[in-house]
Amino acid sequence: MREISKEEFKKSIIENVKNQYRRTIDEATPQQIFQAVSYAIKDVIIDDWIATQKQFDETGAKKVYYLSMEFLMGRALGNNIINLGAKKAVKEALEELGFDLNAIEDQEPDPALGNGGLGRLAACFLDSLATLGYPAYGCGIRYHYGMFKQKIQDGYQVEVPDEWLKNGYPFELRRPEYATEVKFGGYVKTEWDGERNHFVQEGYQSVLAVPYDMPIVGYGNNVVNTLRIWDAQPIDTFSLSAFDKGDYQKAVEQENLAKNLVEVLYPNDNHYAGKELRLKQQYFFISASLQVALKKFKETNDDIHKLPEKIVFQMNDTHPTVAVAELMRLLLDQEGLNWDEAWGITTKCCAYTNHTIMAEALEKWPIELFSRLLPRVYQIVEEINRRFLIEVQNKYPNNYEKVKKMAIIFDGQVKMAHLAIVAGYSVNGVAKLHTEILKNQELKDFYEMMPEKFNNKTNGITQRRFLLHGNPLLADWITEQIGDEWITDLPHLAKLKVYVDDPKFQQEFMNIKYQNKLRLAKYIKEHNGIDVDPRSIFDVQVKRLHEYKRQLLNILHVMYLYNQLKDNPNMDMVPRTFIFGAKAAAGYQIAKKTIKLINSVADVINNDKSINGKLKVVFIEDYRVSNAELIFAAADVSEQISTASKEASGTGNMKFMLNGALTLGTMDGANVEIVEEVGKENAFIFGLSADEVINYENNGGYNPEEIFNTDQDIRRVLMQLINGYYSPQDPELFRDIYNSLLNTKNSAKADTYFILKDFRSYAEAQRRVEAAYRDENWWARAAMLNTASAGKFSSDRTIEEYVRDIWHLEKIHVDDDDVKAL
Ligand SMILES: *Cc1c(COP(=O)(O)O)cnc(C)c1O
Repeated sequence: MREISKEEFKKSIIENVKNQYRRTIDEATPQQIFQAVSYAIKDVIIDDWIATQKQFDETGAKKVYYLSMEFLMGRALGNNIINLGAKKAVKEALEELGFDLNAIEDQEPDPALGNGGLGRLAACFLDSLATLGYPAYGCGIRYHYGMFKQKIQDGYQVEVPDEWLKNGYPFELRRPEYATEVKFGGYVKTEWDGERNHFVQEGYQSVLAVPYDMPIVGYGNNVVNTLRIWDAQPIDTFSLSAFDKGDYQKAVEQENLAKNLVEVLYPNDNHYAGKELRLKQQYFFISASLQVALKKFKETNDDIHKLPEKIVFQMNDTHPTVAVAELMRLLLDQEGLNWDEAWGITTKCCAYTNHTIMAEALEKWPIELFSRLLPRVYQIVEEINRRFLIEVQNKYPNNYEKVKKMAIIFDGQVKMAHLAIVAGYSVNGVAKLHTEILKNQELKDFYEMMPEKFNNKTNGITQRRFLLHGNPLLADWITEQIGDEWITDLPHLAKLKVYVDDPKFQQEFMNIKYQNKLRLAKYIKEHNGIDVDPRSIFDVQVKRLHEYKRQLLNILHVMYLYNQLKDNPNMDMVPRTFIFGAKAAAGYQIAKKTIKLINSVADVINNDKSINGKLKVVFIEDYRVSNAELIFAAADVSEQISTASKEASGTGNMKFMLNGALTLGTMDGANVEIVEEVGKENAFIFGLSADEVINYENNGGYNPEEIFNTDQDIRRVLMQLINGYYSPQDPELFRDIYNSLLNTKNSAKADTYFILKDFRSYAEAQRRVEAAYRDENWWARAAMLNTASAGKFSSDRTIEEYVRDIWHLEKIHVDDDDVKAL
């Protein structure tokens, strides 16, 4: 790692302030200082970036293109400083100039180009790829407005546009030299040249895709990879020629297309909305990414058949799946290959990651829309489907059920998951349980026909952001005890296990937790105006708001606890702070109502003096990567309470574990593997198993009314949803939530997420949490064991598995001399 000179860095900041803003350092605003510091950091990064790209070219190394509609990056400045090994120098330089690094970092907007877990996974993967030295590009979209900012007004979520580009983003680099045309609509003309057909798209509209590159800095290795996000620009801005030809209308339409295309990120997590603009976004960034990838390949390779030796496209969910047809199109129509050659290459270049089995999340585009927007691509999908169905019929003669279930195009729709599976050479799930459900239930037919494609890659998270950056006190303490190898080799944390029974280490560990709880309490005081007791149990559920994640189970249990306290104010109880953070998709009514319920319950409980502050409920506004870092560090209890079988993996669960929180969860997603690592006795597991849930589902659900009729405590809580207990002005306010649990007209459709079914088991697990917390030594030991056992959940491990089983990349090395030689 190269040394960064403090003095040079100071000079660089001062120069930047002067050149950019014509100000001296003491006249500059905090935002201007942030910009100046970021440009100074970017200056350092650029040399490594160039040297890395030189290594790519010289070695001709194979690259992975990670195709994703979402990259939930979080702030870059702090992370880049750490990965450059410049924290000490920068911190001191800033202090000498009279600034606090944390305050400067707080000036950066969170680039929130993603919804939740899927987008954050992509960001963690980029960090790991760079740190491990693998050649990689992230390919995505430069949304002008990322994930909306959430305001809470009168307890309701209000969505506010996220203007992250307002002040200019210092870490991006516009690359007009790679601008590429992307075409939509029109029709396909077939031209016979005496030897073969040529397919030409005519009457189309097009936009110019312009890439912006962001550096992805590896930790301490001089490697800088690239996240390339595409912006759209009109191709023919009212050029006179278009005007003269009477194409005024078309010029206006193209201008509008470019304007709308990359305007906003769709705020749905795990939900398919079927919007035309969304399909346009998908094709836009895929076509641009693939065109440039092929062009780059051809600069140094003369045989297109060797493409699979140099390039792999990893599709993050089905959102980028149009890539397989676009690659076919480029190979057939541009490179002039025949079908079999093109198919041979495509099926060696594309791999697919499945993120969900939930029906409402599966992408199925109406043929009408798909073929109108992408006429040539649709022809190719039809041909892929035709050939695939012949294979199905050969394997299963006279079995129309198989055709129905497996067809790519069926019933007027294009099924993107089927296309991804058929054209990809790898299909991976994201946790062991999830992959087993894929193989044995959801994708059983495909698994039986092509078992060799299926594999598991349990998700991971980067410890550089979620421990080293987010929890510096714990990071430093760990390094003091066992050295710093854990930063690039997380399983080293297991060395902490020898200390878990030592009271001195237990106390130090829990004291750091306490300091982090103070830090979060301060944030809560500033943002919510609520005083929370840092000695209370910090019981946290932060994640997207979704029925399957069951924030409702959590808040119903809070209501139940509050009832107990009201009945018995002297009840002996460890004080508890229930912390929530969650954005709901803007159109997801029941989810938004759940946010209102949490805030209404919080209002009543937090203002009830009679319970002596034993219970507090906090809803943290605008949950995002930057406040997530504070929250994980301060958590005692990690709520991972999804309906078993619904959460493919979860990654929040891993961040909590790494920071020494104990999991309260169902046997779902990666919780299963967390418990495998830390031991069931150091977590609190409850509820139906995935098999039990699936069994109920296959047999028409269960009857929640039985529980309502027989369990007084549950009935009381449910009645409080409709008797105005938490909404005196509008007793009907939470009727829809009540109905979702107990729709008396159709009990099979009631409580489809098994909230009442799991309630008693959850309440009992919560009692175990409380009992365990009373034993300080036990809790400290278990918390330390959680951190010490988190080694498996580094995204470094996940990436090494992708490389070994799917991508087959070689590491590159960028020496200090390579950088100096520039
Ligand atoms: C990790 C993370 C998520 C995913 O959380 P889950 O609990 O796995 O759903 C979502 N949002 C942010 C900001 C995250 O950091």
